Amino acid sequence: MSTIDVHLGDEPPQCMRCLSDGLLTVKFPQTRPGSLGAHTGGSISHVLCPACDHDVPQATELLALFTVDDRITGANSLLFTELLLKWTEHLNTLTVDEDQLDREIEQWENGEL
Ligand SMILES: [Zn+2]
Repeated sequence: MSTIDVHLGDEPPQCMRCLSDGLLTVKFPQTRPGSLGAHTGGSISHVLCPACDHDVPQATELLALFTVDDRITGANSLLFTELLLKWTEHLNTLTVDEDQLDREIEQWENGEL
C-alpha cells in the first residue's frame, strides 16, 4: 500500500497543464509494475484541476464535491477519501500505461516488436 500525500493549502495549487488554479495536490511514490511495490525514489504529484479534469470520469465526482462543499469537514471526509482514492487509482493506472508504452517504444526501436 503506497502512501498518498494530499495538500489542501490555503493557496490553491497551480495546474501545470493549463496554469490556472487547481483544487488540491496529491503526491504519491512512483511504483513500477513487477517491482513488488518498491518505488524508484521518485514521486508523482498531480493537481486536481476543474478545467483539465472535468472530462475524467474518475475525477468528476471529486470535482462535484468541491462544487458543493468548498472545504472538507468531518461530515464529508469519508466521501472525500473514497473519491480521492478512486481518482488516484486512475492516476496510477495512467502511470503504468506510460511505463508500458516506454517499454514498447524501446522494443520497437530495437526491432523486437
Ligand atoms: Zn488545468
